[in-house]
Amino acid sequence: MASCNPSGCCDGVTAKLTIFFFGCYCKVPLSHGLLAAQERDYPEWPNRAGMRYRASYDPNILEMAPFFLLPSSFPKREFERVVKLQPLVNELTHRIAHNYEFLKECLKNTIKVDDFTARLWKIYETLQTEGVTQEVSLGLVRSDVMLSQCMAGTCSTCRNPPYVTCHQVEVNTIASGFGHLGPSSALIQRHDDRRRTHSYMMPENTALADLCGGMITAWEMYSNPKAVIMFVVEDVTYNICDQRFHEYEIRSKRPDIYVIRKNLTQLSKATLTDDKRLIIDDCEVAVIYFRAGYEPGHYPTEAEWDARLSMERSRAIKCPSIHYHLAGTKKVQQAVASKGVVEKFLQPEEALLVKQIFTGLYTLDKGEMGDRAVKMAIDNPEKFVLKPQREGGGNNLYGNEIKEELERIKDSSEREAYILMDRIQPPLQNNYVVRPREPVRLVETVSELGIFGVCIGTAEKIVVNKFAGHMLRTKLSNVNEGGVAAGLGALDSVFLFE
Ligand code: ADP
Ligand code: MG
Repeated sequence: MASCNPSGCCDGVTAKLTIFFFGCYCKVPLSHGLLAAQERDYPEWPNRAGMRYRASYDPNILEMAPFFLLPSSFPKREFERVVKLQPLVNELTHRIAHNYEFLKECLKNTIKVDDFTARLWKIYETLQTEGVTQEVSLGLVRSDVMLSQCMAGTCSTCRNPPYVTCHQVEVNTIASGFGHLGPSSALIQRHDDRRRTHSYMMPENTALADLCGGMITAWEMYSNPKAVIMFVVEDVTYNICDQRFHEYEIRSKRPDIYVIRKNLTQLSKATLTDDKRLIIDDCEVAVIYFRAGYEPGHYPTEAEWDARLSMERSRAIKCPSIHYHLAGTKKVQQAVASKGVVEKFLQPEEALLVKQIFTGLYTLDKGEMGDRAVKMAIDNPEKFVLKPQREGGGNNLYGNEIKEELERIKDSSEREAYILMDRIQPPLQNNYVVRPREPVRLVETVSELGIFGVCIGTAEKIVVNKFAGHMLRTKLSNVNEGGVAAGLGALDSVFLFE
């Protein structure tokens, strides 16, 4: 599906084309004195951009979230392209989420072999049978893209220098984080005097205000000034600053709106009134913002599943509602990239634009197409990523792991729990990674840009649909996945160049 693959202009897995975009504003490596000046400021950052880490967890201690000293270069053309595209990505996601038949067809095999997706599906089916109480969905989505580098630049999207195009990694419909830490990283990086003159090259980032604005709009649509916005959180929250600043933003914009935080276990005590109002601790809940509930570990017992069902049954506006959650599964993403599918949801010219950011996605379902994909991956595992139906990082398989897993499951329906994707090869850059208690290190990096979107509406009508800011995560080039909390990735921002 990738627009540049068929013409053969992508350089494939082996090329190591480092693009020294940094030349456009500063030279790497930096002088010793400059680095030392930077280091003096780091201890102040946890107040605004802090994290807790699994290995050293202490609820009373925040450590600086890892970040890159310099913003990473990103072509303005590609940045503007994905920003402009976001309302279409929102609309596509919204329409898919509201198409029962499509979701059913996509997930019918997956739910036979993947218990977690099957549990989510069961909730969805229950609601379809009982009838949906709250027609409005709040989508706070994030479309993640990577630059894909091309050598010859002969295809239609990456014909011109710097011979790169954006390819979508995934669309997140639940717990799309970094609405606070994304913009914060630019504040940290702008702190350095030398780049202030170039600050216009670091685009304004209104992610936090826009995402919280979406929650406030949904709260207003619920029409009960006494009802609260509820964040559903993990038992232990590592990415605490990111979450808390969403809460502070809502409070500062609308001091009359009360925000509460509950985990799924606490929510098993919530009750539903006869007219399906969700009540917890004597508060009526207007909006439910899930920052948890996307992985099996968040549901240790049946009580947590019961809590999720109660919330879905309620008239609270959910972010996401169960069908939005299902629309964000990897299997649905793969099915959407199949021939002729996007056209079912968008106008032909819009579909064309969205499809340009897709890379190859392949079904592993039993059958001829699935068999072909299995063979292709076993023959060239380094060209692909093998993805189960999981969110939150650290679940995908790469290289030899793909070969071993597919050899093991190729004749079993277990393979239907996975999808296969072309591995995107982003251009490399050099940057300084700053991590707590470690010396600043110059490393080789690749970046992933997240574009936020807000979409509010019912099956019939979308009332809000907009681009809502961005975030950039950068990781060491030699790691497969760069979770920020895991320490392999770090906060970053874009420095646009033409
Ligand atoms: P999750 O839901 O766990 O975030 P993703 O699909 O976003 O799943 O994959 C996690 C990470 O794996 C991404 O952030 C990216 O670093 C890497 N990754 C995923 N898909 C690809 C791909 N097609 N090419 C290269 N890297 C990928
Ligand atoms: Mg992801």
